Amino acid sequence: MTFSRPFRSLFIFVLSLSTFAIIANAQIKPGRDPNQPIDQEYTNKIREYTTAPYFNSPLTDYLPASSDIPTPKAVLGDVAGAPGKLPYAEDVYKYMRMLERASPRVKVFSIGTTEEGREMIAVAIASEQLISKMEENRARLTKLADPRTINMNEAEADALVNASFPVYYITGTIHSPETGSPTALMELAYRLVVDNSPYVKSIRDSVLTLITPVVEVDGRNRMVDVYNWHLAHPNQNWPGLVYWGHYVAHDNNRDAIGLSLKLTRNVMNTYLAWKPQVLHDLHESVPYLYDNTIGDGPYNAWVDPILTDEWQMIGWNNVSEMTKFGMPGVFAHGNFDTWSPGYLMFIAATHNGISRLYETFGNAGADTVERTLSPSEYQRTWYRQNPPLPKAKWSQRNNNNYQQTALLTSLYYFGNNSKLFLKNFYLKSKRSIDKPKQEGPAAYVLPGDDPRPGNQAELLRTLQAQGVELSKATAPFTVSLRKKAGSAAPARPAASPSASPSPAPKTEDRTFPAGSYIVRMDQPYSRIADALLDYQYWAPNDPQTDIYDDTAWTMGELGNVEVVRVVDAKVLTAPMDRVTGEVRSPGGITNAGAVYVINHNADNALVTLRYRLKDVEMEAAEEPFEAAGRKFNRGSFIVRKANDGDLRRVANELGIQVYAVADAPSVKTHPLRAPRIAMMHTWLSTQDEGWYRVGLDQLQVPFAYISTQDVSREPNLKSKYDVILFAPVGRGAQTIINGLPMYGNPLPWKKTTLTPNLGGIDETDDMRPGLGWSGLQNLQKFVKDGGLFITVDDTSDFAVNYGFTAGVSVNRSQRLRAVGAILRTKPVDAASPIAYGYGDSLAMYCMNGPIFNINNGVGGRGGRPAPRATGRGTPDDPDVPQGRPPAEIPDPPARVEPWEAPPVTDEQLRNAIGLIPPNQRPRVILRYADSRDLFVSGLLDGGDEIAQRAAIIDVPSGNGHVLLFSTNPFWRGQTRGSYFLVFNAILNWDNLNAGRKLAEK
Ligand SMILES: [Zn+2]
Repeated sequence: MTFSRPFRSLFIFVLSLSTFAIIANAQIKPGRDPNQPIDQEYTNKIREYTTAPYFNSPLTDYLPASSDIPTPKAVLGDVAGAPGKLPYAEDVYKYMRMLERASPRVKVFSIGTTEEGREMIAVAIASEQLISKMEENRARLTKLADPRTINMNEAEADALVNASFPVYYITGTIHSPETGSPTALMELAYRLVVDNSPYVKSIRDSVLTLITPVVEVDGRNRMVDVYNWHLAHPNQNWPGLVYWGHYVAHDNNRDAIGLSLKLTRNVMNTYLAWKPQVLHDLHESVPYLYDNTIGDGPYNAWVDPILTDEWQMIGWNNVSEMTKFGMPGVFAHGNFDTWSPGYLMFIAATHNGISRLYETFGNAGADTVERTLSPSEYQRTWYRQNPPLPKAKWSQRNNNNYQQTALLTSLYYFGNNSKLFLKNFYLKSKRSIDKPKQEGPAAYVLPGDDPRPGNQAELLRTLQAQGVELSKATAPFTVSLRKKAGSAAPARPAASPSASPSPAPKTEDRTFPAGSYIVRMDQPYSRIADALLDYQYWAPNDPQTDIYDDTAWTMGELGNVEVVRVVDAKVLTAPMDRVTGEVRSPGGITNAGAVYVINHNADNALVTLRYRLKDVEMEAAEEPFEAAGRKFNRGSFIVRKANDGDLRRVANELGIQVYAVADAPSVKTHPLRAPRIAMMHTWLSTQDEGWYRVGLDQLQVPFAYISTQDVSREPNLKSKYDVILFAPVGRGAQTIINGLPMYGNPLPWKKTTLTPNLGGIDETDDMRPGLGWSGLQNLQKFVKDGGLFITVDDTSDFAVNYGFTAGVSVNRSQRLRAVGAILRTKPVDAASPIAYGYGDSLAMYCMNGPIFNINNGVGGRGGRPAPRATGRGTPDDPDVPQGRPPAEIPDPPARVEPWEAPPVTDEQLRNAIGLIPPNQRPRVILRYADSRDLFVSGLLDGGDEIAQRAAIIDVPSGNGHVLLFSTNPFWRGQTRGSYFLVFNAILNWDNLNAGRKLAEK
């Protein structure tokens, strides 16, 4: 049965039932309109570049002709996906703007710029009619997105749904080596504008397709440079893409929590402004098309179940349609848990839309090559009945066919069911507002008396950038809270469940002061706030053992800011005002006097202040003190001479409270300087160190950016730098020394006419050489000369392995699984400058960090005292050899904690060659908490292996210091509460021994 076109439209309109819509439109045959001429030359090229007919579909095996609309060839000089053709972002934009000029069906919008100033765009495509109603439609979608505006009136919602059309937002090439989507999206845009087949016309008439063809623009252009270099040097190895964006590589798709990168902010703002129903991000790392939105469990615990159903509906429809086209290797279930909300697509999932993601198969460039798959990739499984081929010639054109075919089938399905998805969009928004009445909580409260108002404001600004509404209490208010687990009940459930029902959780009242921030959960974007502020629990026995990413991101803990989850709905009636404008902590100078004191509370703005006023002399108090009627923490800043106006202006701007006093407090101090910092990177990987650069740049801490190669050539590093920061590399200690293998040709990374986008961050003629032995010696000399060398995670391993840190060794972990988890640390030596401003507990990010051992001797002597051997008596009794008088037993050795070095023995002192002098012994600053307190959020299994071990160690060496981190203080813009451990080390780099008590022997 085939309906005539007008009748079908009427049919849909009258019934307005999606099921009927599916039946009706299922009659449309995918494929070209025989009455529309095709661009024969272009079509021939599509067929030529497609390596086998089954790698194409009736939707993309031709290109309709147009007399006035240019095809992608106008810019590419060939068809989309042609071998050897990889356009720069600007060429892609040029084409999109040609389409805009040629057709009323296209509008191009600038959506911001990248860190390096390149433009990002969004292209809107639909029928002229839909485009002309874009703004009125946006107004309707905005109402559906915030059902409070229509008083949750169902009838009005239905009227809005009926009048509206959905927006489907597609984003391309966030991952720069995944190169296919820009050309696929150029051609898709052309098809959506030109193709008169009923199938494509139905999309154009029912959906507004919004396209950002290049998300990572800086990285795209670098990738094109590298590819062009490869084309110009056909028989050579080409340089790996060591930099993608300005800061990070693959992790640009982990920024939807912290929003540190401009690309995330730009897509977020576009999403918030357009209110699209879908955000669909394109990737290329799995053959041949994997819809990983369906993926595998565990799913994120904070998204609406309506959404997870939508993933299934659209995803399995996709598989079904492409199976019918005979395209192999299309599947949906697979190896990806949808737990973390850090992915770009998740902006939609946490804001009442639909997140989607394709992995197609790319060749990291536009070469056509034979690709051989591994058995895990080509074997048939229950969810992949038509798997990819074990071996196939694969082209960028194949990839473009898959991308476009899948997108077209999705758009078609979405358009056919647009009323269903628009209604779901409304329902998800409404259910977000209903959160306090349903699953809860009612709100999160950030107390107005938090000791770190600056870091609190940072966290709140991130929520604001997520579109979250904030309120501020205008008077104190009291709510009932669940009593913290502690004395009354065990913190974790007992091993075996008890038969008797557990008693109702005990509650207690808490009064919050005026000025407390309230994140109400009766707002449309409550889900993102809930997801970010709540705790995560990943069961150690979860069937998902292939954990895809971090298991925790609890923002209050990582920000060292108190966040209180409040279930009591009374919180919503507290007197409060909506916050307008960005949250700022109050700053300025209080009182009058010649001397200024600033409390050290580990607020990040303090480091900005120090560098902003770098020529002003400042001191750090080595003990707590009182002044101006207030208590000041150890480490507080004392400024004896400053221009009042300058200090006031900077303090105001940075939200720092300065107190003026008549006389300086009488407390021991040392100079607090603004030293010269170098960030050292390798040419192996810049992924993790990029997050350090983001943090330093955001806080305006200046640094030199040097490579291991620079260090290998500079014997006098101390003449240039005071502090060298070596962030995690993830390649192992030997590779840091060796670099890349020296086989083959040099691998240049520099700006040339052929590669205009390389360089700019750093350059080299050859990426292969590593730190080398000369670099190692230079670094060791830097420390002996008085420098501070800061290492983290695997670079701590490097420092330990290469002899920087006498008295520290690393244990290999056997059972520990702390997979992107948050663990509790405790201060061991709070008098160390590194601990200034911190309290008696700090939650830190840990990814199976090194397990440190501490010793007072070099060479690992002095093991832990052994438990008693088998013999007579009780466990505390001495054994007694028979037939002789009992020998005198020496006093048992003092109890040694796992973070401590065993005490020096008389045996060691007899000839103390390996004994480390007391002032050169490792000084443990923070340790991991005891087993029962260690877990904060995420997955922790085998935690006893790392419990109580040293987490941060200051190791004196010669005149300098090495600082070892087992945790990672700078991670994905999320760990802002631990940044100051590094800043403390930097600002106090030449006085790190302050407050140290030395052992007697
Ligand atoms: Zn990717």
